[in-house]
Amino acid sequence: VATQLNSSGLLRTQGLIGGKWSDAYDGKTIKVYNPATGESIADVAYMGARETNDAISSAYDAFKSWSKITAAERSKYLRKWYDLLMANREEIAQLMTLEQGKPLKESLGEVNYGAGFIEFAAEEAKRIYGDVIPSPLSDRRLFVLKQPVGVVAAITPWNFPLAMITRKVGPALACGCTVVIKPSELTPLTALAAAELSIQAGIPAGVVNVVMGNAPEIGDALVESPQVRKITFTGSTAVGKKLMAGSAKTVKKVSLELGGNAPCIVFDDADLDVAVKGTIAAKFRNSGQTCVCANRILVQEGIYDKFAEALVDAVQNMKVGNGFSEGVVQGPLINDAAVEKVENLLNDATSKGAKIILGGKRHSLGLTFYEPTVVSDVSNEMGIAREEVFGPVAPLLRFKTEEDAIRIANDTNAGLGSYVFTNSIQRSWRVAEALEYGLVGVNEGVISTEVAPFGGFKQSGLGREGSKYGMDEYLEIKYVCMGNM
Ligand code: ADP
Repeated sequence: VATQLNSSGLLRTQGLIGGKWSDAYDGKTIKVYNPATGESIADVAYMGARETNDAISSAYDAFKSWSKITAAERSKYLRKWYDLLMANREEIAQLMTLEQGKPLKESLGEVNYGAGFIEFAAEEAKRIYGDVIPSPLSDRRLFVLKQPVGVVAAITPWNFPLAMITRKVGPALACGCTVVIKPSELTPLTALAAAELSIQAGIPAGVVNVVMGNAPEIGDALVESPQVRKITFTGSTAVGKKLMAGSAKTVKKVSLELGGNAPCIVFDDADLDVAVKGTIAAKFRNSGQTCVCANRILVQEGIYDKFAEALVDAVQNMKVGNGFSEGVVQGPLINDAAVEKVENLLNDATSKGAKIILGGKRHSLGLTFYEPTVVSDVSNEMGIAREEVFGPVAPLLRFKTEEDAIRIANDTNAGLGSYVFTNSIQRSWRVAEALEYGLVGVNEGVISTEVAPFGGFKQSGLGREGSKYGMDEYLEIKYVCMGNM
């Protein structure tokens, strides 16, 4: 697959600085591995502070002209980029499965979803409206202008190698900002392919830059630069807090999409089929490696046994394997550390009384493959219910009343995705309003879309991505007062 991709021109291994593909200045590289085979796919540039500072300078220079062209022109560039992403959908999806491990069908879905942010941004670019405010004084006129914030640093994780980039870069570019992207070192190839297509779309040099390598060093350079006016980050809560604290020095705008601890609440009055299908979609997508994956499945006592049985029935039919193989719905985990985390959380839970009712061990395929797992009798005090599992493990917790469910669901510092299964309209509203979460799926397990706002309450983050709300993150508001009219 890699050689095939090479001939398509999308397999890039250098960083992109000021429109030029560039090696690390000291020539260092790092390997990218296929988690499904353990084989290395490519050696990519391993960069640091020097390359990052040059990328920032390029973005800063490019901002002068990119912010001045018309919204309609920026819209056209973005539209072209979207068209190219879709025209190369198969190749990008292959690259994604190769470096990330997710089943090809999920990768194809991510290309649609990821490219969708660019399409939406192309459309929304033309609708960045200001305001005219009625003046309290008759000889004055008051206006509000929306202007791009400046150079944006976008730091992204490995679980959605395309979409986490496009949902930041699309709106940034639409608003007139320029960007320095720092993709995950585990999945840089998808990011670089997208960057290559931004060049093919004619987006001017320096508007999109990509650096990767020593993450803390690159992160520090981005945070410390007074030229970077905005940090947008998706990843762990620990790194997000560090970036936010670092940004205080230069008072940058900050958007954070951090860890979740999604409750999936199944009430006695739920449709069992809908609840099982929705829970599986919410839990096992990307082998459980998303920040909105159901982390705690709260099931009301009247339906608990039936639900557990139906869930086990469905989960045991899920095919595990290489994401390129037909019928596979569960790929490997991203690396060994991810498997160890799952093992530790499960060991801890079983030592405290939880029972594994399906799976519960490494898969016979070896490497980082893990058996889809269901574990019952979990309590909200166990580590498995307090931390993000980020693996194919469904922990079941039993509850009695609606009040119990809401209390348990909200008993966490995170507040990103949440799910509710019930056939009562009144309960849907009551629970949706009571959940301290940025996203609520009612009778639906996969709800993310570029047209709706995505983001968290509490320590799950700051700001929103996607939709019209996602545009505001890249804009400054300017008040203009014309006096003595
Ligand atoms: P995950 O658990 O999803 O890998 P991380 O927060 O470690 O979460 O990674 C998300 C992104 O943050 C990746 O691009 C990673 O390289 C980057 N990163 C990791 N450490 C730092 C750091 N100290 N400063 C800036 N970025 C970092």
